Amino acid sequence: MKIYEMTNEERIRLLVQTGYLTTKQAELLQSRRTISLDLANSLSENQIGSFSLPYGFATDFVVDGQDYLVPMVIEEPSVIAAASNAAKRIKNSGGFRTFPSSRVVYGQIVLENLTETDIETLEKKDSEIFECAQQAHPSLIKRGGGIVSLRFNRYDGFLEIELGIDTVDAMGANMVNSILEKTAHKISSLVSGDILCSILSNSGQGQVITAEAAIDFEQLKTKSMSGSEVAFRIVKLANFAKQSVKRAVTHNKGIMNGIDAVYLATGNDFRAQEAAAHSFAFESGQYQPFSEWRIKDGQLLGTLKMPIELGSVGGAISALPMAQLSLAIMKITNSKQLQSVVAAVGLANNLSALRALVTTGIQAGHMGLQSKSLAVSAGASGFEIEEVSKRLNQTKNYTIENAKNILMKLRGK
Ligand code: NDP
Repeated sequence: MKIYEMTNEERIRLLVQTGYLTTKQAELLQSRRTISLDLANSLSENQIGSFSLPYGFATDFVVDGQDYLVPMVIEEPSVIAAASNAAKRIKNSGGFRTFPSSRVVYGQIVLENLTETDIETLEKKDSEIFECAQQAHPSLIKRGGGIVSLRFNRYDGFLEIELGIDTVDAMGANMVNSILEKTAHKISSLVSGDILCSILSNSGQGQVITAEAAIDFEQLKTKSMSGSEVAFRIVKLANFAKQSVKRAVTHNKGIMNGIDAVYLATGNDFRAQEAAAHSFAFESGQYQPFSEWRIKDGQLLGTLKMPIELGSVGGAISALPMAQLSLAIMKITNSKQLQSVVAAVGLANNLSALRALVTTGIQAGHMGLQSKSLAVSAGASGFEIEEVSKRLNQTKNYTIENAKNILMKLRGK
């Protein structure tokens, strides 16, 4: 039986049988009570409840030779299906390859009211400042991380001291902010100027990763279009996105569909990721797509390049049982591995969206899956959901009014 044809219970049982979940983790899922009041109160303020979103997983991901099931949290129908669909086409063509870069988070100490002599003093004492920052979080050095760069950048009225910090497996925002504040304290003892602020940058420039997939034409064909025609049309549409900002934004939104869903499932900071991603897209001065597609050696080659700003430990990742469960399902052992999987998911969602757009159009698959949520919005429950959704798909009239009419007929009213 296909995974998407199984019941919730059957899927959980399968994950236990195949070693992706322990029975304890399965119980956590089945209880549907995944965050305690104490934990909620310790994570954010003014608590009055918890807000749930659907938790599922994408299948058939082969990333750098390793198989993955990828947990995703998303309310939008078809994102998980699209990720799985493309991942299978890519798996059948050899899988994803990723090329992670360094894992450096940049932080800024911003100073004002400095004299030229102050700036020269600070520049001369760069090793002292570097060492102070390095000693601000000694456990990072033990783990193989720590300060990797120190730069002085002059602005009109400001001096920025920029530290590059390898935060190893943590996303690193808190760590970097603590290091910066301790270093700023030292700096204020060296010169008479004022510290305006000390804060990490979410630019993500030190965490840019590339993911690639070469897809056989055979994997792209539809009932009415050959695989090569689909491939060439995908290349054209991806090239159009390089010229049209309006298209590039939507191209990238499709990529973020998958990325954000994995961020949520792993307790990562999706606001940080969104900020990093879109600033990168604008790096050239014109908003650009995160991926490009071309034909190479008789295959369709997709390359995604973007910052992936995340952690596999720390913050809410270590605190949320569901985030821990997601990492366990993916068997994640470090942040670079998670970055690779996330990048692959972004590329998979991109391929599915492009393939749908240049063939049947996005609505054929999207509304087919959206029909279930339309049925629920119209008031359907239990078996009615499937039935209303089926009839909506038959009429292809995806309106709430039509859903309500179908439901009334079904109930004999
Ligand atoms: P933490 O403050 O939890 O720090 C990371 C923790 O992980 C440390 O306690 C560290 O231990 C521990 N750790 C264990 N193993 C490792 C390892 N292998 N590599 C690295 N650290 C390890 O989290 P972050 O500093 O990552 O901060 C992330 C949080 O900050 C997120 O919740 C984010 O939303 C939030 N935030 C984001 C901001 C932004 O993006 N602008 C601003 C402020 C906060 P040890 O101390 O022993 O080294």
